[in-house]
Amino acid sequence: METRLELQKDLARHLRAGHPWVFRKALARPPKGLPAGTIVDVVEGGRFVARGYLDPHSAIAVRILTREEGEAVDAAFWRRRVARSLALRRELVSGTSAYRLLHGESDGLPGVVADRYERFVVLKLYSAGLTPWRADIVEALRAECGDLAGVYGRDEGARDDDDEGSAPEGRVLWGAEPPEHLAIDEYGMKILVDVRRGQKTGLFLDQRENRRLVRELARGRPEALNLFSYTGGFSVAAAKGGSTHVVSCDLDADALALARETFKANGLDPADHAFAQGDAFDLLALYKKQGRRFDLVVVDPPAFAKSQKVVEAALAGYASLNRAALHVLAPGGLLVTCSCSARVSADQFAEAVKEAAFKTRIELSLVAETRQPPDHPISLQFKEGRYLKAMVLRRMA
Ligand code: SAH
Repeated sequence: METRLELQKDLARHLRAGHPWVFRKALARPPKGLPAGTIVDVVEGGRFVARGYLDPHSAIAVRILTREEGEAVDAAFWRRRVARSLALRRELVSGTSAYRLLHGESDGLPGVVADRYERFVVLKLYSAGLTPWRADIVEALRAECGDLAGVYGRDEGARDDDDEGSAPEGRVLWGAEPPEHLAIDEYGMKILVDVRRGQKTGLFLDQRENRRLVRELARGRPEALNLFSYTGGFSVAAAKGGSTHVVSCDLDADALALARETFKANGLDPADHAFAQGDAFDLLALYKKQGRRFDLVVVDPPAFAKSQKVVEAALAGYASLNRAALHVLAPGGLLVTCSCSARVSADQFAEAVKEAAFKTRIELSLVAETRQPPDHPISLQFKEGRYLKAMVLRRMA
């Protein structure tokens, strides 16, 4: 009954080893007339390799769900997958009421992202091929979590059978509507999250351990600068940790407004700090001209390299951004610099920062180097999932 798609030669090994994507051009014949979400078996010489769902509009035609021949993709399947992901979090995540519950490919659920915020889950489906399975996924989350108040959907541009169109604001998929600002607790710090209109699912949960690190490192560092601050997670962490004046800079005015509220929620007066709505590069140029220096600088830009073609440009971008950041770093100060471009490796990123240090003639020593936390698991078979890297560097006094 299932549909079989023949692979071009030599790709089966890759898939059997665990890689979850089948590009359209890897298929011997493109699938015709099958709707998004159809369960297909990918075969080589007629032999079963893996089973996945079809996305006819994407360059990735099939995303693999299972390598077990004949495993049914039904309600019980999604429940098993959700249960498995939940078990990992229960073992490895604590001290926070917000964490990633389903991390797509690396949880065996390609294209599915779900983040837990208190008693709400925000679900984001990154492929039209998942639309027919949405109800099963929601039910699996509800049943496995057991204590949810609601599941909220924030799909990436709803398509196909979704006639509501692609609203930037999401919709309730089950249960209650989340409050306008959800307050989560992360290692004793409160963070306000706008799950309905905020970026991604509302918060960059992958920076949790780095926020904790910044909080520790801020002790004795009065002047802090947080570039690409979004809702000020790093800013509040720095202020709680000891920085007495934190400048947060982002293009997004709504994010900065929420940052102010988050300061207040932590008993900090936003009037003691600064919020600069605008371009981070412009602000750095201004501070350089003014000769301003900071004891702690956090740099966490959006992904620079969205495709393989632009990796070189991204590396140049990281080099120049970090160079500008180093110009405002006081001797003895700390730079926390991040990259979330999956196509830029940790080594390439380190090279870009090294170039920035060389050009500014600033000597740096590496204090810490981090990756994404365990609720954003890294499957060894899926190198594309290894995206977040950060370095903490100290400028020689
Ligand atoms: N550091 C944040 C996440 C940053 S995401 C956190 O931990 O929550 C990247 C942010 O950069 C977004 O909020 C986006 O609005 C902002 N941004 C993008 N380009 C920018 C620019 N040129 N100048 C300032 N902010 C920018």
